[in-house]
Amino acid sequence: MALLGEKCDRCGTRTRNREDDRAICEACSQEMALMVEASAESERLCPVDGQKMTKEIAHMLVIDRCSTCQGVWLDGGELERIRGGAEEAALRSMAIGFTSPFA
Ligand SMILES: [Zn+2]
Ligand SMILES: [Zn+2]
Repeated sequence: MALLGEKCDRCGTRTRNREDDRAICEACSQEMALMVEASAESERLCPVDGQKMTKEIAHMLVIDRCSTCQGVWLDGGELERIRGGAEEAALRSMAIGFTSPFA
């Protein structure tokens, strides 16, 4: 076992966390858990154009994004989590370049 840890298989961050015999940092591990959770959720239809939205993970939140209009749907409670402070940047980064249904 390397004292300085290894590089995360997914993002390259140094980590000592290991799962399934490969180095994976905690952030990635949490993200992957979220993706499993997200894939169990039902698909949403965009309220603007009725197209199927795809699940994305952004800053530890599961969001639904419409590939047609790039609108983003947040599940109940997710906005509150973003408002919680640490994830404020998440909202800003998501807001960049998307033409929202709220515009
Ligand atoms: Zn990682
Ligand atoms: Zn849409």
